[in-house]
Amino acid sequence: MVTFSEDVIALFRQAAERLKLDPKVIGALVMPDREVSVSVRFKKDDGSWAVVPGYRIQHNNARGPYKGGLRFHRQVDHDEAKALAMLMTLKCAVADLPYGGAKGGLAIDPKTLSAGELERLSRAFIRAIFPLIGPQQDIPAPDVNTNPMIMGWLSDEYNKLAGQPTPAAFTGKPIDQGGSQGREEATAFGGVVVLEKFLLEHPELKNKKPAEITVAIQGFGNVGFHVARILAEKGYHIVALSDSKGAIAARGADRLDPIAVDRCRKEHGTVAGCYCQGGVCDLNPKAQISNESLLTWPVDVLIPAALEKQLHASNAQDIKAKVVLEMANGVTTIEADEIFNNRDILVIPDILANAGGVTGSYLEWQQNLKSEQWTTQKVLDQVAEILTNASADVRATQKRYNVSIRQAAYVLAVARINEATN
Ligand code: NAD
Repeated sequence: MVTFSEDVIALFRQAAERLKLDPKVIGALVMPDREVSVSVRFKKDDGSWAVVPGYRIQHNNARGPYKGGLRFHRQVDHDEAKALAMLMTLKCAVADLPYGGAKGGLAIDPKTLSAGELERLSRAFIRAIFPLIGPQQDIPAPDVNTNPMIMGWLSDEYNKLAGQPTPAAFTGKPIDQGGSQGREEATAFGGVVVLEKFLLEHPELKNKKPAEITVAIQGFGNVGFHVARILAEKGYHIVALSDSKGAIAARGADRLDPIAVDRCRKEHGTVAGCYCQGGVCDLNPKAQISNESLLTWPVDVLIPAALEKQLHASNAQDIKAKVVLEMANGVTTIEADEIFNNRDILVIPDILANAGGVTGSYLEWQQNLKSEQWTTQKVLDQVAEILTNASADVRATQKRYNVSIRQAAYVLAVARINEATN
């Protein structure tokens, strides 16, 4: 089976070959600069000790300090962190941010830990990777299952070790610990900015009003919830939502209300069964659908916002959406991508679609370095500007090379990384 990092390396190589880069240069650019594995030991509530594998992979810093999330999930492993680190280098280059790329995490399901255990583990992780991290060296951010509270613990532990407040060493922090207004919704907000740029040119959707465009979203965490909320506020027709425990789809002309679904989810532990319209919820088991069928639901826009490799050779033929907005990283395998290209399904790739997250992080870092606090409006206006420029740059590259949007984004990014390396 092709691994996640092999998929990303293959796409990187393809773009570098299209740019006619020297094979030796390509070989050097795909290799991560540093790959660190650690064993993180922490005390459980019953007094016993547990050990969790942790990773930090720093792919490339030619364009600036390493930047990338920390993920707490049982599937975290070396290969996943390596692939995601390379995607971060590419993403920062697409958005033209002065950063390289890194990624890391802990191979643990945080839901199996008490709050105290999670805090002790988070702090122990930072002690293990402390020498790698710093405001001009490597700046971790949130990712799957790492919320502002966890980022606050990581930042606080770092400050103790550094002997001074160093807020710019982490992004995605709580506001009272140097976090930024707008950071939480920046990823989703940026995704919607990019989606609307591409909808304007879509042959079948460009003349439709938002209310006539149907949307299904996989994943209802930070990214999935905010993307659903923002699209619903703009009038788009939200038809189906899911989380790891189940999925729900509206019937007929009904539209789901993401804010009410979120309230219901918090009470019941899952979106499945939360049939919420216009603020009112009905716990309707008939509206539940399987997680797999959400992906193939008949909608105009499919937004995967959960984990990687959700769209693959076995389900790509069944996808009915006209547009796929990849809010999750690495969601489409190479085989599925080819099928989508052949079927004229427009795929807006992760390294452009979800670059609003790292852009929000960049703006938080800027505020920390300057000891400033900006308004939500100021932050989101800058996210919109940066992603509007990135979308236009990718579109221009697509026209120039006559390739898919994904290939164009890779060509643009690899050219910028190569330029900074020489
Ligand atoms: P999160 O932990 O807040 O939410 C993940 C959601 O996915 C949860 O609702 C979970 O229940 C759901 N999920 C997991 N497995 C699922 C499955 N098989 N089917 C349906 N739902 C499933 O994570 P997040 O921060 O929202 O990140 C989601 C994705 O977006 C990840 O791929 C992440 O790398 C990417 N991303 C996040 C950010 C960010 O700023 N948070 C930035 C860029 C990219």
